[in-house]
Amino acid sequence: YAVDMAQCFALLITPVAADDTRSDYSDTFRAIDVTAPALSVGELSTQRGDGVFESIGVIDGHPNEVEAHVQRLAHSAALCDLPAPNLPQWREAIAAAATHAPAGEAVIKLILSRGVEHGPAPTAWATVSPAADNSLVREKGVRVVTLDRGYDLEAGERAPWLLLGAKTLSYAVNMAALREARRRGADDAIFVTRDGFVLEAPTASLVIRTNGRFLTPSPSGGILHGTTQLSAYEFLTARGHEADYATLRLEDLQSADAAWLLSSIRLAAPITAVDDVEVPTDAALTRELNAFLLSPR
Ligand code: PLP
Repeated sequence: YAVDMAQCFALLITPVAADDTRSDYSDTFRAIDVTAPALSVGELSTQRGDGVFESIGVIDGHPNEVEAHVQRLAHSAALCDLPAPNLPQWREAIAAAATHAPAGEAVIKLILSRGVEHGPAPTAWATVSPAADNSLVREKGVRVVTLDRGYDLEAGERAPWLLLGAKTLSYAVNMAALREARRRGADDAIFVTRDGFVLEAPTASLVIRTNGRFLTPSPSGGILHGTTQLSAYEFLTARGHEADYATLRLEDLQSADAAWLLSSIRLAAPITAVDDVEVPTDAALTRELNAFLLSPR
């Protein structure tokens, strides 16, 4: 979909130390022209994908799950040995960016890069842009294919330098997996480990329902902890459902009585088929869950 640049906004952020306790960070942000170049050619985010990011859903100017997003930004930064982000500064940047969000659904992206090669400090910025219209996919769902992740379940813990639990800017592999899914006639992909465990989609968490119980793969170093999944679990447990973390095999997904991909912008997309085998859906619950996810939180 084409983004109307007139509805976009960007702030360049000068990251301050995590223990800086000023009460107002507004002089550490600078609005920049979204149509003009803003980064140095020495930027390690562009040269190496060396940085971390977050995408936050914004509904009518309200950014959702801000706390979970800034906490995950800090977690990703720690995994990447980046300087710890100053969370009050990031919260203030998000609030400042949100005032420029277009009406309806929008997305705020936070980017924390290692900075310019040999430079003194990380680079950071936040952008706001209109979100794609996801109403159809929330209703009609997604057909997924399972794709080999190339690792076993323990890889994330055994080899933390693979950064599997960090939301890094190196998303070329995730995008390649989505293209492969489309080549195979599907809408999305679910990564499966060499030893047969399901993980997550390239840009979403997986939740299944089995015998009335909601389950999602444990975020144990190999996958991201989804902020939307956390909110969905809050919604489900408040309604008396059992919702847990588990180690899930491919067969658990194939035999689920419903399954969803969850992410901050698309929200809950029901899975309608896995590797061309239809899976049941729960349209009423999906609708209620999306109504909750669209409400200010
Ligand atoms: N897993 C991956 C790999 C992702 O990229 C994302 C979001 O982009 C998610 C899970 C879902 O996270 P969230 O619900 O916080 O958007």
